[in-house]
Amino acid sequence: AQNRYASLRNLPATATCGTTVQLYMNAGLMADLPSLEGSGAEGVGLFRTELQFLIRNHVPRRGELAQLYRRVIDNSHGKPVMFRTLDIGSDKVLPYMKPQDEPNPAMGWRAIRVGLDKRGVLRMQLQALIRASVGRPLHVMFPFIADISEYEDAYRILMQEMSREQRLGHEMPTDIRVGAMLETPSLAFAPQRFFEMCDFVSIGGNDLKQFFFAADRENERVRRRYDTLNTSFLALLEQIIARCEAARVPLSFCGEDAGRPVEALTFAALGLRRLSMRPASIGPVKHLIRRVSIAELRQVIEDGKSQGLTNLRRPITEWLARQ
Ligand code: PEP
Ligand code: MG
Repeated sequence: AQNRYASLRNLPATATCGTTVQLYMNAGLMADLPSLEGSGAEGVGLFRTELQFLIRNHVPRRGELAQLYRRVIDNSHGKPVMFRTLDIGSDKVLPYMKPQDEPNPAMGWRAIRVGLDKRGVLRMQLQALIRASVGRPLHVMFPFIADISEYEDAYRILMQEMSREQRLGHEMPTDIRVGAMLETPSLAFAPQRFFEMCDFVSIGGNDLKQFFFAADRENERVRRRYDTLNTSFLALLEQIIARCEAARVPLSFCGEDAGRPVEALTFAALGLRRLSMRPASIGPVKHLIRRVSIAELRQVIEDGKSQGLTNLRRPITEWLARQ
């Protein structure tokens, strides 16, 4: 399959109507980085930092992390890497953390909630990221922001760490871009100020969908029950796209759905211009985008909505079959 799409590697994901979608890859290990070259991704749209914390039996030291992040940046050869700060809790339990006995861990003490309560770990990780990015741009995103105040707090901590590094006389990143992951429906309705504070926003579709439909992504009985192409969910995405456009903030989608060709195409038709996915999905998604008109698909979506359909999978796949 790699070979099948190899000829597309250096071509843009430009649809026949002229719209281009930027395709990024998700990563979490050094071993993922060679795929950046192989897949033709424009960068790493989501670097999950949990694994480095999960594979040890102690909190990694700042030096170790800085060295690792530096290698990640070195191996991305100038392509941007969006580092997501630690998203632990929920399904990702650290061996050296006291197990939390929570009735609903996915909605419990996780991600930025832990970061803001245990600031030492968050600060240490931010210091490591800053030190790894000396002389280069740094992209940081905070996971699971449910309220503007959490983003403001995390942002302030990052700025404090930047000032501290500067005060210590250390060299600095050339540029810093800060973003939030939009993974809870509440954030789609945040004040305008929130979107204006972000240099970029990335939709964590796996979590966003589980909270929108109240359907546990880990529960086999319900995890596939609600379709991403359900018009209610698409309406939520349209709301998010409109909010980001109004604030002129670049928006991406980095959940698993971004790597599913029909979903990816639909997101592009709704207005998303940046998708981040498993490296193996880039070829198939690009192949499909290059064969169709996203503008025409937009019309199919509008027609389906005005007919009052509750799910657009059928008209979209029927349209695709005619292409
Ligand atoms: C998501 O929720 O869609 C996401 C990208 O983050 P994770 O899958 O790591 O929770
Ligand atoms: Mg998530």
